[in-house]
Amino acid sequence: MTSQTPDGQSEPGGAPLVDGPADPEHDPRAAYRLEPDYVASLTERIVSTSGETVAVYSPLDGAPLAHIPQSSDDDVAEAFARARAAQARWARTPIEMRAAALLRLHDLVLDRQDEIIDLTVLESGKARKHAFDEPIHIALTARYYARTAEQHLETRRTSGVMPVLTRVEVNRVPKGVVGIISPWNYPFTMALCDGIPALLAGNAVVTKPDSQTMLTALYGAQLLEEAGIPRDLWQVVSGPGRRIGGGIIGRADYICFTGSTATGKVIAQQCAERLIGCSLELGGKNPILILRDADVEKAAEGAVRGSFSNAGQLCVSMERMFVADQVYDRFVERFVARTKAMTLGASLDWGNDMGSLISADQLATVVAHVDDAVAKGARVLAGGRARPDLGPYVYEPTILEGVTPDMTCFGEETFGPVVSLYRFHDEAEAVARANDGEYGLNASIYSRDGRRARALAAQIKCGTVNINEAFGATFASIDSPMGGMRESGMGRRQGSEGIHRYTESQSVATQRGLTLGPAFGMSDETYAKVMTASLRLMNKIGRA
Ligand code: NAD
Repeated sequence: MTSQTPDGQSEPGGAPLVDGPADPEHDPRAAYRLEPDYVASLTERIVSTSGETVAVYSPLDGAPLAHIPQSSDDDVAEAFARARAAQARWARTPIEMRAAALLRLHDLVLDRQDEIIDLTVLESGKARKHAFDEPIHIALTARYYARTAEQHLETRRTSGVMPVLTRVEVNRVPKGVVGIISPWNYPFTMALCDGIPALLAGNAVVTKPDSQTMLTALYGAQLLEEAGIPRDLWQVVSGPGRRIGGGIIGRADYICFTGSTATGKVIAQQCAERLIGCSLELGGKNPILILRDADVEKAAEGAVRGSFSNAGQLCVSMERMFVADQVYDRFVERFVARTKAMTLGASLDWGNDMGSLISADQLATVVAHVDDAVAKGARVLAGGRARPDLGPYVYEPTILEGVTPDMTCFGEETFGPVVSLYRFHDEAEAVARANDGEYGLNASIYSRDGRRARALAAQIKCGTVNINEAFGATFASIDSPMGGMRESGMGRRQGSEGIHRYTESQSVATQRGLTLGPAFGMSDETYAKVMTASLRLMNKIGRA
């Protein structure tokens, strides 16, 4: 299999591209940048009988990519019916066999990374080096849960009310069919990472990836099947969330949602109506604190990655930077210099430090935030312009100074390559400003004193805090939970919480010998006295 870079060179192992755009008028399969048969082999997995399709275009250059079949409510019902039947069989499959499939996925993802990255870049417009993070995150997640699921899920003995006589075991029972609604910003990792622990816990999954990035998500589903996950266990439906989201929530036993806070609130209400659980991974306005003893060069390097990875379209991306007086000028000089030296471009090849935004809507938001700030007096230290010469939605990495509370980008998530700099005088004040607002997703602290930085971290109201790193240290440490406080979410992905959310705990108590009521002809009054005395004794001997 070969693919072509924009300058026409072949690359082995990537997604099969066509030589030039086919004519939409005369190509009934309407796949223009990618080979039509290849696109059809992906889209045939969508449960869709509606006959309706939606065209998607690459943000790299606007070339058409595919016509994506849309799912009706009947199709969503069919996807759940298939998933439910498959789940009953899967729940009886030994955990070692489930884990073995996920370990095969680990290797497949590494082997097929060129194809995964091609699809991701074609659909999202991001730089190749940022797309590379996606197969890596899925390999890490698959390996972690394949190796630890048995331990997370094993039946646990707990202490019974009557020592020795009450034996209690807690089982972890799969929820059933999990609905996963995911966004476009990390199309491969967001489509798969939350489903991996759901599968290992014995569930089936119905996914609704974002409409803009269906091909990458479908390729992930194909890899799961190749790894040995039964096809019906992982269903893919497509369509606008507002149209088919209700049908998913109405049929699922649990919902995992990643996306905006506004949509997360709607989904939480719908789940509450049905009394089903949900985890919500939402937005952020993430702060980075550069303390007076920070290694300035290291902080400037981390600040570039933290603010401009995936053109800032990253939930854990840094949009507010608080810098200590003592290092402010030195840090800003290094940060601005590094930012201005970045290579921008919208293409499939390596070498771009930052790629395109995904859509005209994203570009419009970024332009609106920067223009509003500038009109109200903010200074642009780097960037500040769209670059249509490089791609329809490319915007320069932008550093603002003098941002004030009346400007939109002060508190609202831009979800683009825009960061505001603020000077601080003492650390308590910096922490208070970092905690301002409603979000609480991710923070970063740069300091040479790890102990002081960890003490400050404990005061920050965010679900993850990275010290001397922007976001990768927590995000890639799959054994640790990841998610938001306050309006950044509910529940956690990763670690034991990331798999336990897909299970119900079930306590099974076996009572032996004495029953939990009066025995041997004892009166209720005597029983009450014996129980009271035994409770006092238990407290005295320190029993929980
Ligand atoms: P969005 O909420 O508009 O869409 C996300 C997904 O939800 C899409 O699949 C969409 O089709 C679906 N959706 C939309 N409305 C729906 C509804 N009423 N019912 C059911 N589904 C619905 O979010 P977006 O703008 O596409 O994504 C960007 C946002 O996601 C940002 O705020 C970002 O911070 C957040 N995000 C958070 C994380 C995290 O892990 N915390 C990760 C990635 C993105």
